[in-house]
Amino acid sequence: MGERIVILGGSFGGLTCAFDLRRQLGKKAEISVVCDLDSFIFIPSLPWVSMGYRSPADITLPLQRILGSKGIDFIHEEATGVDPESSVVITGARKIRYDYLIIATGPALAFSAVSGLGPEKGYTECIFTLEQAVRCHEAWKRFLEDPGPIVIGSVQGVSCFGPTYEYAFEVEAELKKRKLRHKVPITLVTSEPYIGHFGIGGLGKSRRIMEDEFAEREIRVITNMAVDEFTPEEVRLNDGTKLPFKLSMFAPPMTGVPAVSHLGNPKGFIPVDDNYRHRDFKNIFSVGVAVAMAPPEKTPVPTGLPKTGFMTVKMARDAARTITADILGKEPPETEPVDVLCLMDMGDTAAFMKAKPVLPPRQESTLKAGKHYKWMKAGFEKYYLWKIKHGLTQLP
Ligand SMILES: Cc1cc2nc3c(=O)[nH]c(=O)nc-3n(C[C@H](O)[C@H](O)[C@H](O)COP(=O)(O)OP(=O)(O)OC[C@H]3O[C@@H](n4cnc5c(N)ncnc54)[C@H](O)[C@@H]3O)c2cc1C
Repeated sequence: MGERIVILGGSFGGLTCAFDLRRQLGKKAEISVVCDLDSFIFIPSLPWVSMGYRSPADITLPLQRILGSKGIDFIHEEATGVDPESSVVITGARKIRYDYLIIATGPALAFSAVSGLGPEKGYTECIFTLEQAVRCHEAWKRFLEDPGPIVIGSVQGVSCFGPTYEYAFEVEAELKKRKLRHKVPITLVTSEPYIGHFGIGGLGKSRRIMEDEFAEREIRVITNMAVDEFTPEEVRLNDGTKLPFKLSMFAPPMTGVPAVSHLGNPKGFIPVDDNYRHRDFKNIFSVGVAVAMAPPEKTPVPTGLPKTGFMTVKMARDAARTITADILGKEPPETEPVDVLCLMDMGDTAAFMKAKPVLPPRQESTLKAGKHYKWMKAGFEKYYLWKIKHGLTQLP
């Protein structure tokens, strides 16, 4: 019997770790992935689900099949806790012992941050989970029958801004295509100090380019703004402005998930060293959105640092190499700071974003818009799903 490695989460971080460890360690490790969902979801395509451009089946893969084919055990259960002293994961059904644990549980969505926020207990749509994106598409179909003002945005404390930009651009392009644009005032409200900040202090000419792109589309932009509350008909901003809406989509802040929050900082994100090892527990690692990372600057309205898919895969590859080195009795590998490589849909066009490393000062920093990036984004979706299906983890 080899070392027992348990991975929480079956998405970008968890699957990359699982496949790399299987390749690197062969029979020297028993690997289990514990996940509350039974499918891998290609999250970057959720805005397309909300617009009706993709169905859930287009962007999901069954975890049992893709993990089973690599000899990785899949446990379709929600972890409810972790006891780091006795090295066990707790689920509703059992206790799972581990020699190494990798936490790749992503975020919990903190809709309670603002009164009236969110699809379940509030009045706004969201596109951060598959369920929400499907629901948002239903709201969109109803909206098209009786259009009116749309308010889109990111409340105070948000760290993941890109999908909200994508949604605003996609809604605008789709309304134009349907010859409805003149009936729909669109407003984007954001906690970022300026448009194009993205929670990372901007990149390249992102501020100038994004200001122009929103201006050209006549999307009103309100930056540096907190939201006081949402009612069924309007968004009430912190400066007293009231924005009526027929449809509203807002991003929530994120925290760590409850099952592991006792291992994290006050927001429940896991503190790790340069090799993604927990600062207090040597046999616990964490990658992806679950990791604690400080933003580059304190913004007047609070914002957080986004942790993208590319960053997550890079973290996961480094964590897997470190665990492999540990098990084989070797020195931990050198790691580099994470960077951003992203394609953002803009409706009729798209943008390519690169920030290396993610936090300034940087070696490379660029945002470029162009129609060919839209085709690259659609191609990348297919390529990534193909890669995950075959257990491949190389970075582009
Ligand atoms: C709408 C949207 C669009 C995005 N677009 C892009 C993009 O274009 N490019 C890009 O690079 N990044 C994008 N991102 C960011 C990217 O999706 C994340 O960086 C990535 O999903 C992080 O992967 P992860 O494995 O850390 O967490 P997640 O993908 O959130 O996965 C967490 C996993 O853990 C599971 N889990 C959670 N709690 C438990 C528990 N208690 N027990 C068991 N399992 C649990 C979840 O079900 C899930 O499988 C986008 C994010 C969103 C929300």
